[in-house]
Amino acid sequence: MKVVVDQDKCIGSGQCVLVAPEVFDQRDDDAIVVLLQEHPAAAHEDGVRQAARLCPALAIELDEQ
Ligand code: SF4
Repeated sequence: MKVVVDQDKCIGSGQCVLVAPEVFDQRDDDAIVVLLQEHPAAAHEDGVRQAARLCPALAIELDEQ
């Protein structure tokens, strides 16, 4: 799995950090998403998929190959 985040779309709601804190973080100054792992470990993949579903800004894209 490859994860891509679009910081221009992100509205800083923090849903991704709540469900997959190993993969997503937020910038301190404006809460915009920061990607910690472009290729997350298998154990984190379900959380990443949930984050992509929950993101209100559709700022998380997944390549499942
Ligand atoms: S859930 Fe979406 S909008 Fe919210 S911080 Fe994460 S990437 Fe940004």
